[in-house]
Amino acid sequence: MSPKQAWVVFSFLVVLTDFVAMIALVAFGYPEAVVIASGMIILLFYFYVLYKRYNVEVISESDLALFTDLDDLRILCTIYGLDKAGKESDLNERLLAFSRAHSSRAFTWVAPRLVRSVGEALEVPQVPRSTNAVETRPLTGGQKRSDSRLMAIGLCPVCDAKLPRKGTVCMECGADLEFYSVLQESKVGKRLVSEKSRVVRRKLRKDVSASGGKR
Ligand SMILES: [Zn+2]
Repeated sequence: MSPKQAWVVFSFLVVLTDFVAMIALVAFGYPEAVVIASGMIILLFYFYVLYKRYNVEVISESDLALFTDLDDLRILCTIYGLDKAGKESDLNERLLAFSRAHSSRAFTWVAPRLVRSVGEALEVPQVPRSTNAVETRPLTGGQKRSDSRLMAIGLCPVCDAKLPRKGTVCMECGADLEFYSVLQESKVGKRLVSEKSRVVRRKLRKDVSASGGKR
């Protein structure tokens, strides 16, 4: 997660908290106008500080070379949210890497560890690849996916495994059944599938002997 994304998440929480607090204060009988004005001022102040402090100018590599004082380097590391431990050469290296990584921009966002960890904690985890994702992949030759074709496939076209359960993907080798089944209908597809089949079977055998111990 980039510092910018972490700030988006964090700021969302700040805004939410501010609104909840405003609603609560009004509910407790505080004058609405005062509460709303204070809430807005807090948010303005927050975004002002955020922008001023954490959208920082990227220092160029050539300018960086001008800093030789250890304290200056530590301060730069703090500003850029980098680790400030270590020798002068360590700090220099870290700052140089940062400068190179952001050389295309004049300004960049940095975020302290707290903000980054809040952002990462609330990050929506990547949805694992499901069998539904397979269904959206088009078939070769412009053919449409159909349940009846899928049902008719008894053996995996790639690894020849029997397919006891209904599914779009082979339980043994993970192959997209309909895709390879249709692919096999063309000459070049047949070659591709048979080549793939050799590779996959070799791999499956290796997995079995690796997990099954020596024979
Ligand atoms: Zn298979």
